[in-house]
Amino acid sequence: MTVVLRTLEELHNWKNAQASQKIALVPTMGNLHAGHLALVKEAQRHAEAVIVSIFVNPTQFGANEDLDRYPRTFEADLEACENAQVDAIFAPSVEVMYPEGLKITHHAEESLANRLCGASRQGHFDGVVTVVHRLFSVVEPQFAVFGQKDAQQVAVIKALIESEAFPIKLVVHPMVRDSDGLALSSRNQYLQTPEERQTALALFETMQGLAVAFHTLNQAPTAPPLNLQKAFELSWKALQPMYPLGQELQWDYVEAVDDETFEPQAFLTSNSRLLVAARLGALRLIDTLHVQELLDEAKERA
Ligand code: AMP
Repeated sequence: MTVVLRTLEELHNWKNAQASQKIALVPTMGNLHAGHLALVKEAQRHAEAVIVSIFVNPTQFGANEDLDRYPRTFEADLEACENAQVDAIFAPSVEVMYPEGLKITHHAEESLANRLCGASRQGHFDGVVTVVHRLFSVVEPQFAVFGQKDAQQVAVIKALIESEAFPIKLVVHPMVRDSDGLALSSRNQYLQTPEERQTALALFETMQGLAVAFHTLNQAPTAPPLNLQKAFELSWKALQPMYPLGQELQWDYVEAVDDETFEPQAFLTSNSRLLVAARLGALRLIDTLHVQELLDEAKERA
């Protein structure tokens, strides 16, 4: 049985009932899919008690974003949590999460906040940090599980845990993809036609192409390092016509960072993490790939 906690008092009583058991928190905005459930499994490997929070956080949405139409599917989420043997769902109201009103109370680290997704979603990561700070403070978990899908969010949360000295171990679960390679996301249901869905795959496939180009160059000892922007321009010119709506896909960014430090990289290395975002009509898609991990996986399969 999964218990549903809506108030701080209910949460407090549940925490007390866990006695000395370790608690792992999986923060979500609901509309749970296999990606979220993989995080739950990961949480269960670390702690005896797993709590999933479901809260669509208004402060991380921009004025023109999809806060109002974000899919809210509580009954289905509850059933999914019961099937996954989640111990508790914390589903607070806005008033419980924001007792002082919808204000930003904590800021994302400056070096991370305004790049990549933060550049086109001003204030997004301050909203994320504000809500996660509140969740960490009221739930007090020993573990917090986040998905690599939101790689920049992981870097922001890592910095938050360090700067506030939260006694919480951050657990990062790898990306979960659909069988065709599309990164699972609650927003994928906005992809209405087969053409849109096929075109959305361009994010993953473009990154795969860049990883292969990196590998090919790397094989030649005298070859120069791979310049990401140049390689992307070349490969997208070749790939774009292969997608039914390729011309309508608006790239927001195609960048690489060092996977350890999150420092931007102009040239790929074996420790590069690619991060991409693109708009297809009203939908904004993101994806990420660790270059060497992909190459290693391909080697294993061969
Ligand atoms: P969301 O409900 O979209 O805010 O996501 C909640 C958590 O699930 C975040 O830590 C996400 O990174 C993670 N997540 C969402 N989709 C995936 C996925 N396809 N693979 C791995 N983690 C995911």
